[in-house]
Amino acid sequence: MSLFNFEAEAGAAESLAAPQNADPQDVLHRVFGFPSFRGHQQAVIEHVISGGDGLVLMPTGGGKSLCYQVPALCRPGLAVVISPLIALMQDQVAALRQLGVKAAALNSTIGFEESRGLRHDVLRGELDLLYIAPERLLLESTLDLLRQAKLSLFAIDEAHCVSQWGHDFRPEYRRLTVLRERFPGVPRLALTATADGPTRRDILEQLELQDGRLFVSGFDRPNIRYRVTPKSEPRKQLWDFLEREHKGESGIVYCLSRRKVEEVAEWLSGKGRPALPYHAGLDASVRAANQARFIAEEGLVMVATIAFGMGIDKPDVRFVAHLDLPKSLEAYYQETGRAGRDGLPSNAFMLYGMADVAKMTRMLDESQAPDAVKRLERRKLESLLGYCETTRCRRQVLLDYFGDDCGSCGNCDTCLEPVESYDGSEHARMLLSAIYRTGQRFGAAYLVDVLLGKTNERIERLGHDHLAVYGVGREVGGAHWRSIVRQLAALGLIRVDVEGHGGLFLGPDVRPVLRGERPILLRRDPERRRAATRAPANLTETVLASDADRALFESLRTLRRELASTQGVPPYIVFNDRTLIEMAKRKPASRTDMAEIPGVGQSKLERYGEAFLKAIAQAAESP
Ligand code: ADP
Repeated sequence: MSLFNFEAEAGAAESLAAPQNADPQDVLHRVFGFPSFRGHQQAVIEHVISGGDGLVLMPTGGGKSLCYQVPALCRPGLAVVISPLIALMQDQVAALRQLGVKAAALNSTIGFEESRGLRHDVLRGELDLLYIAPERLLLESTLDLLRQAKLSLFAIDEAHCVSQWGHDFRPEYRRLTVLRERFPGVPRLALTATADGPTRRDILEQLELQDGRLFVSGFDRPNIRYRVTPKSEPRKQLWDFLEREHKGESGIVYCLSRRKVEEVAEWLSGKGRPALPYHAGLDASVRAANQARFIAEEGLVMVATIAFGMGIDKPDVRFVAHLDLPKSLEAYYQETGRAGRDGLPSNAFMLYGMADVAKMTRMLDESQAPDAVKRLERRKLESLLGYCETTRCRRQVLLDYFGDDCGSCGNCDTCLEPVESYDGSEHARMLLSAIYRTGQRFGAAYLVDVLLGKTNERIERLGHDHLAVYGVGREVGGAHWRSIVRQLAALGLIRVDVEGHGGLFLGPDVRPVLRGERPILLRRDPERRRAATRAPANLTETVLASDADRALFESLRTLRRELASTQGVPPYIVFNDRTLIEMAKRKPASRTDMAEIPGVGQSKLERYGEAFLKAIAQAAESP
């Protein structure tokens, strides 16, 4: 089964690449339609063209693909791209063919005839790029075929799959050293968005790339706005977020359990917001169909467990919302990283509450893992909770965690609405004493009532209205006390008895706090958010100033959808949103103007230039 209809592309135009020694800048402009390289792209490309090996670490959306696609079109011969995911391969091949590049994929979805045709093309030197799954590459027959071909380079995509430390370990990747043995002299470029030290060392070692050059980019994703909000009414909070900021846009909502995924997807659909579920318990065919729809359509919400996301290259995912806590900050960064690959403004939105902390702590306590692993997991949980409760710039906390840094970003909730922090040692002591004096068995609601000096039958019956802590916390509001409970739990000072009735008990390190030896800094959540000026309802409202430009964008989008559907490709493969937005802003009136729009290369100008020029001219005539 093929995701896209490649037959429509059969007999694609002659390759746009010059036979050899083409200039990278010229290829970038002519084929891809981009005016300039980004970040390390140019350095990587020059290194590979001159025959060097290397490892490229670049964040998602940073532009890794160009690092091997441009050299593939500049060096003579066939570039072989090793990629673990068939859907990704097909996406890339479809995109390259639209650019007039001769690209193909060799994987298990390809039939005998097609595979034979491909072999011929390889032997006759008629392909620029060939994407192969690692297991297919390692077959003796494939290696033999490649031996007979002239090769320009090997690109090893998602190179972290080689590492057992990573989250996507693929044993076949370990055997890729065969490339060095069998094809000495062919440059090898490994690429990944996974940055941590052990994985990086593993990649270099396992792929025998120690002599190659390392290109490390900063891991910041400046176009993503991070926001973490205390969970009060999760569905309403999600709904408000979607309605206010993401009308008609695509995004992912992550939930912890399969049941919740299904419930939320059904609820959103019921309210008229197209949504699909995705989790490992669904039939494989349903999963594949839902994923294909998410990629192909605009404005669909995918409600999913963490089973969803690997290899989703969709550039216009405008938001990632977490209704439950992710597993760790690594997981959070990876999941939120699926938003805004096109570099346009996007949101990472997370709701988090006391129950999440309790659930995560319980999972950790029940884990059968050895103590050393548990200690590591506890540290990871503390980092995650620390991120949720921070008063610092969230981006700084995230980048710090990955060994990177930045100034205050101005694009996260704590920068946009600074949170006050204060010496909360006294409040911490009040709460810890209340827990201790009441016997370490009551839940947050009861304890807050005691601190606020409320009267109810239970408090009176148990005589807790006679305790010294009774009513000592009246100066603080109930919502703030609940926030303090969460913050102390995040610090590990309070634990939750999840087996029983959610009673709170003291963590192992409370003594210095009770004795006043360890000061506790707490955040004061704003009681009421500042009345916000109405935020733009979606991306087009953010980036396009006038109603007329937005209307033009919509008509270009409709045209794009029609052109995409006749070819069986996702709309973004025709042109991405960035390109359409530029068209709506600049309103090109001639082919020359059109060729100046980023993302309009020679092939796309030939294919679509006239149609889009006509749509723009029509809009100008009938404002
Ligand atoms: P990655 O694989 O690192 O996640 P991609 O290679 O998919 O990133 O690139 C992300 C987006 O950025 C794509 O839409 C791509 O076309 C665009 N892009 C990459 N390099 C450039 C560039 N030099 N100029 C403009 N856009 C670029």
